[in-house]
Amino acid sequence: MRTLLIANWKMHYGPMKAGGWVRAFRRERLPKDLDIAVAVPHVSLAAARASLGRASIPALAAQDAFWSSEGAFTGEISPSMLLEFGVQYCLVGHSERRLLLGETDEMVARKAAALQVAGIIPVICVGETEANVKKGEVAKVLRAQVSAALASLKDGKTPFVFAYEPVWSIGSGKPCPPQKAKEAHEIIRTAIQKKFNSGVAENARIIYGGSVDANNIAEYVSTTGVNGALVGGASLDPRVFGLLCRTANPA
Ligand code: PEP
Repeated sequence: MRTLLIANWKMHYGPMKAGGWVRAFRRERLPKDLDIAVAVPHVSLAAARASLGRASIPALAAQDAFWSSEGAFTGEISPSMLLEFGVQYCLVGHSERRLLLGETDEMVARKAAALQVAGIIPVICVGETEANVKKGEVAKVLRAQVSAALASLKDGKTPFVFAYEPVWSIGSGKPCPPQKAKEAHEIIRTAIQKKFNSGVAENARIIYGGSVDANNIAEYVSTTGVNGALVGGASLDPRVFGLLCRTANPA
């Protein structure tokens, strides 16, 4: 399976800066056998697309989408609107949205399903908080988040990605030990197998996110069952993210 690396700018880089990042990143020497995407704020999609032109590397990703295709949903953006920019992936359920904005498993599931219907690959973010770790409920929390999302997916054939992102690791400089990430990925893969079948589970992409940088990416992508990474802080500088991509796949 090809490794997938997704840069997540979070709420950085409006349209004035987005094009510069894309142009600088495209000057980087990038491994051919990686899939690379960049998740930009909605308002920066047009600028990022304009700088990419017809180029498909990096693929364009969004950071959120609503579940309806149009209607009286002030402030929301639909999957079909994202398609107009050639968006191929869209994050849903990032922990910052779950924790700061109260997104529930049900909302995340509806968003993931709507993206699949539109032909955009949902990148469903799941992960436990520090409090969950203290209470020994990591597996329980993960299973609940994953099964809620899986219940809404069309079928096992339409692509989807899970991003395992332990909340305590995001932006903290405390990367999750690869062995622990491996265990979490196994929990997610088993849930996929139960919902669909072992073929779907084997082919499902599950990526890791949480304080990934150019120094630790190699450890993650060489860990069984870890199929890539979602990268926040270390993606803000296009040259640092370029180095991270080369380190992930030095071939
Ligand atoms: C993220 O934003 O999804 C993330 C993993 O952030 P960071 O790499 O900064 O921990």
